[in-house]
Amino acid sequence: MCTAPRIWLISSLALTLAGCGGQEVSATGRSLPDGPARRVILITCDTLRADHLSSYGYGRPTSPRIDELAKESVLFTNAWSAAPRTMPAVSSLLTGRLPDEIGATPSNMDLMPAEALTLAEVMRDAGFGTAAIVANSVLRRADAERGDIGVQQGFVHFDDTMTQHPTINAAPERDSDAVTDAALKWLAARGADEDRFLLWVHYMDPHGPYLPAAEHLAPFVRDHAGESELPVAQSPGEAGAIPLYQVVGEERKPGQYVDRYDGEIHQVDAEVGRLLDALRARGWLEDALVVFTSDHGESLGESNRWFSHGDSLQRELVHVPLIVRPPQSLRENLISGEGGRRNGKLVMHLDVWPTVLRAIGIPGHPNRGLSLLQSKLPEGRISAHFFGRLDTPRRMISVTDGRWHMVTIGPKFPTLYDMSTDPRETTNVVAANPAIMQRLQARYDEFMSQGQSNRLTGTTRVLDEKARRGMNSLGYTGGDDH
Ligand SMILES: [Zn+2]
Repeated sequence: MCTAPRIWLISSLALTLAGCGGQEVSATGRSLPDGPARRVILITCDTLRADHLSSYGYGRPTSPRIDELAKESVLFTNAWSAAPRTMPAVSSLLTGRLPDEIGATPSNMDLMPAEALTLAEVMRDAGFGTAAIVANSVLRRADAERGDIGVQQGFVHFDDTMTQHPTINAAPERDSDAVTDAALKWLAARGADEDRFLLWVHYMDPHGPYLPAAEHLAPFVRDHAGESELPVAQSPGEAGAIPLYQVVGEERKPGQYVDRYDGEIHQVDAEVGRLLDALRARGWLEDALVVFTSDHGESLGESNRWFSHGDSLQRELVHVPLIVRPPQSLRENLISGEGGRRNGKLVMHLDVWPTVLRAIGIPGHPNRGLSLLQSKLPEGRISAHFFGRLDTPRRMISVTDGRWHMVTIGPKFPTLYDMSTDPRETTNVVAANPAIMQRLQARYDEFMSQGQSNRLTGTTRVLDEKARRGMNSLGYTGGDDH
């Protein structure tokens, strides 16, 4: 039997009880796992392209604070989401499974069912505190009648408060300063012995409409006098036009919107910095695992698609930033020298699941992913991405090995792009590369044969008229059922 608990000084601020055999117990008396990370900070930013972050090589200083984080982290240049829309992408990230397998594809209307196991549930059941602060209305808690379904599963504190953004439409969302405020409030309410937790913070700012505060827009405003104007789209999903929900005043030049997009990144960057500053000040950063990523990207003119996402699987929509700051005890082995480490190996959102579990010391729960807390990742991996319901004409799958990107749309002959020479995916090179196609197909078949065999059925969110208008005003109209 245990003797009376001893007090261990774990960090400068955290006093924690130790139970049998020195095993730490939570404030509620549960034995906690003994991993190198005491807590996990998962930061996701909606609609954020990797190539518009300074640390990913962008030519404008959009992200000084995220760049600072990257200097203490492993920055993955070849990272992939599983889907181009928020709900399936985030559901996949939180479960370590593909959207189809958890019933969350392809629509933002499809919620994964209660049987889906989330990181928050695993960590909560292991004795960790769990909290989420989300800013996108599509991530709001489902109606109370059907209980805990969707991305909130396992979060004891799930803050989906939306504030009315002063936009030209009615889409409810929450600006990043309010998101950080809410996260800091939750952190401040935790006692020194409540330092074992998962905190997920989802920012929204780079999602359209692009309306950064003036001080964040100003550094990015350029002269666009010589640019041609784009028309305003007459219908959802129209190519070559500005989506209606994105239109700002009389601005019609694409560069004006890119400036705005960059301003939104600068705005959210400051708030990511403020969140990390607060964690550091509390002594809760050094022994944390921090994961920063986005749910999906955004089209900024590729394939003549402007300021939109969620209707194809082109590279700019499923390639994402991924920055992993290991807990201090692992950092020396993973990051040699100053300035962080860049890693070009193919990784994916499915890798976040084993990375988190490895960091906090919870064994089991295998998935298709690999822990990113290892100095050498293997060659030869692929990532797969999905859009459209199964067995429908618009069903899309794409597969990449990091260089080649194969995209299929329903029964159509697939397209193949060589991203090393054609990152905007303008030229279909499928005819000249049958061996590449065969290899990608074989790897895809092998990939899909892994993972859990049970496929879950999602449940459709019930929206009232106001919520439906809000969803429409975010550009999420049609395209899901056919
Ligand atoms: Zn999103």
